[in-house]
Amino acid sequence: MSESVKIVGAGLCGSLMSIYLARRGYTVDLFEARGDLRKETLPAGRSINLALANRGLRALGEVGLGEQVRKLLTVMRGRMIHDEAGKTEFQAYGQRPWEVIYSVSRPGLNALLLDAAENEHGVRIHFRHPCQAIDLESDRLVLLDETSEEPLELPLTTTIAADGAGSVIRQALETAGRVESRTDWLEHAYKELTIPPSSVDHWRIEPHALHIWPRGGYMLIALPNLDHSFTVTLFLPTHGEPGFDQLDTPEAAGRFFDASFPDTRALIPDLEKAFFVNPVAPLGTVRCAPWNVGGQVCLIGDAAHAIVPFHGQGMNAAFEDCLELDRHLETSNGNFEEAFRRFSESRKPSADAIADMALENYVEMRDSVRDPAFLLRKAVAFELERRSPERFVPRYSMVMFRSDVSYAEAQRRGAIQGLILDQITHGQSSLEDCDMDAADVLVHTSLEPLPPASTP
Ligand SMILES: Cc1cc2nc3c(=O)[nH]c(=O)nc-3n(C[C@H](O)[C@H](O)[C@H](O)COP(=O)(O)OP(=O)(O)OC[C@H]3O[C@@H](n4cnc5c(N)ncnc54)[C@H](O)[C@@H]3O)c2cc1C
Repeated sequence: MSESVKIVGAGLCGSLMSIYLARRGYTVDLFEARGDLRKETLPAGRSINLALANRGLRALGEVGLGEQVRKLLTVMRGRMIHDEAGKTEFQAYGQRPWEVIYSVSRPGLNALLLDAAENEHGVRIHFRHPCQAIDLESDRLVLLDETSEEPLELPLTTTIAADGAGSVIRQALETAGRVESRTDWLEHAYKELTIPPSSVDHWRIEPHALHIWPRGGYMLIALPNLDHSFTVTLFLPTHGEPGFDQLDTPEAAGRFFDASFPDTRALIPDLEKAFFVNPVAPLGTVRCAPWNVGGQVCLIGDAAHAIVPFHGQGMNAAFEDCLELDRHLETSNGNFEEAFRRFSESRKPSADAIADMALENYVEMRDSVRDPAFLLRKAVAFELERRSPERFVPRYSMVMFRSDVSYAEAQRRGAIQGLILDQITHGQSSLEDCDMDAADVLVHTSLEPLPPASTP
């Protein structure tokens, strides 16, 4: 049994995993390529804030961080849809008071996790230690100590690779022919902007919602921050009309916002300049298998399964990985080879499921949310949930609020529910027109009951 574990990457997933391992009594060396984000200002990188939901909160709660994390959160109860005329419409995410999601600052949450990891007996964090290579044959993990500029070589055995979507470890495993991996790039990219607080330190728009400006082929979203600002993200095709390649001058960016998001012009000061502060960043889905090579190395979080951000689940899935791997360590009695294998095999179907659902959700967010047919399906889904809460739970709710239902199961049940909604809403324009008795029969014959939901 290995008593000492190396984790590469002290981002969201690696730092939480180190806490889980320390609680099991392991000594953990956590190697991070960048400097300590608590002490230095690092380039913003991607997504300044994130949506945290039930799965992530549960994994954080299991190691006693729930209370501390809650102080960093802003509740979002639903989507606030902004149309071209500046009219807004609120669409609740769920039907019960706890069916909400939360906005959290990435650096704030990462700093909390680093503090918590450092407070654990047995965790040592090594900043500015990028992993440069691995060698499976000679069992070597090669890092660079950027302070001394000396290479550091350690046994590879029992390394967890939490080095994110561009994982050098995954790429090395692929080159060695030990894993198969594919990255599917989306033809859309993103860019971040900011809505600052108003002069009196108030939010300029409703704080307890995830704002969406859906425009069919593209969209703008905004999530609240604790300092009363909003982080705004434009998702747009990389090329085309409109496309990021066309928005290459301040005037072009200004004209685009005037035409597509006129109500944001009063919210984002000096947009023409602000538009060029942050880069255009790509979006992709990483599908890879297996995630481990024996007990030597195991991929986790985005390194194993990066997804597009439209379901707000990448971090949540990465946190859930930590919980799942921990459970496999428990049932494998600390045999890492067995735990890594079981984790990879059992978790992969769920990673594939959330990757698919995240892609589907892009169309929902940028387009369907303004479609009356979508709104009718949502109304019927909520009504069916009210009638049969143990059997019919809208797919979005299963993914966001039910960590006891795996992503794979949410996708499977969601497909059955989708067919019921197709049948019941076909040709109808309002909930009153739909044959809910027929829907009840379909629900009871095609969906087996779920265990009762626990109230968080
Ligand atoms: C625009 C956008 C919006 C998103 N919104 C959401 C959301 O709302 N909700 C949600 O749940 N998820 C969201 N995500 C996904 C989320 O950001 C990721 O799933 C999450 O960060 C994964 O955590 P991780 O620790 O696996 O990877 P990362 O957070 O990428 O951390 C990897 C760490 O490894 C370090 N590293 C990299 N290479 C090396 C190396 N060679 N050696 C040592 N260290 C290394 C990095 O510096 C970093 O600290 C979003 C993603 C994007 C791009």
